[in-house]
Amino acid sequence: MNPSSHLSLIIDLSPSQWHLSAQSNNSYPLSFQTFLSHVLTFVNSHLAFKHENTLAVFGALPGRSMMLYSSLDATSANSNDPPADANSYRPFKLVNSVVANNIQKELDAIERLTEEPPVALVGALTKALCCKYQPFGPSTTRKRGNEATTSVDPRILILSVSPDLSASYIPVMNSIFSAQKLKVTIDVCKVFGEETVFLQQAAHLTGGSYIYLGRRDAFLQYLTMSFLPPPSMRHIIAVPQQDKVDFRAACFCHKNIVDIGFVCSVCLSIFCSPVPVCSTCRTKFPMKTLQHLNASRPSIPPANGVSNGAPRPPSARPNPGMSASLR
Ligand SMILES: [Zn+2]
Ligand SMILES: [Zn+2]
Repeated sequence: MNPSSHLSLIIDLSPSQWHLSAQSNNSYPLSFQTFLSHVLTFVNSHLAFKHENTLAVFGALPGRSMMLYSSLDATSANSNDPPADANSYRPFKLVNSVVANNIQKELDAIERLTEEPPVALVGALTKALCCKYQPFGPSTTRKRGNEATTSVDPRILILSVSPDLSASYIPVMNSIFSAQKLKVTIDVCKVFGEETVFLQQAAHLTGGSYIYLGRRDAFLQYLTMSFLPPPSMRHIIAVPQQDKVDFRAACFCHKNIVDIGFVCSVCLSIFCSPVPVCSTCRTKFPMKTLQHLNASRPSIPPANGVSNGAPRPPSARPNPGMSASLR
């Protein structure tokens, strides 16, 4: 039997990006209202897919993140009870009204801000990772070999409109490693704006799917075709995968995304130029090595930053002979 599926949905609620997305000079303008109606149809489909399926919705707002709805938390649903309607299925109406009301409340609060800080995607991602995936207590836990596994198939879907924030490279990578340990799949749909390097890596490293929305008028179709099947069914139903992944990293010194980085062989910190002392672990590097690395730097960086090497988790050690290593 297929396990039940838990979906943590992260919605990027950057008012400025949504304003740009709705402009009529875009080839496929998409307003936030249309986007939200498609998203609510999608979450209703997820809940209808299997009775035990669970849902949590998080909002990434400028400067903060919050939980908008959780089917695991009965109090969040009861406090916003919608009036009875004979023409609608009550659980769907409840989700729709709670999510829409909470988003409206948060966006009203943002209007009072004078300037817009970057959206707190990492905050929403860590909240989604902290979500409990056992909807009906320990009874859903079954034994497989010596290891107890829950029969819930957890995943996170990020609907992103904001560009990469290079300052959040390290927390995003740490979230990815946590997701790998928890066996949580991260799916990403880039609804508007440039491709994001970090979210491509998040989807690739957790076995999820990354989709750049080409035809934004077909948003609901993309959601249904690509993100409705839970990870446990993806060996039967093929979902679109990325044909290339941008593996560039951000340097720890200036938070710039770099094509060629210099990696501390002790703590794996990445720098955009050879440094005499690692700012993270204080390891000193011999002058000779620095001169050698400086001399071997190519004068023109390659135009294409796409490579096939995946970044290592923090416990791994680099090859001693690596050209970009400081030792
Ligand atoms: Zn730097
Ligand atoms: Zn170091």
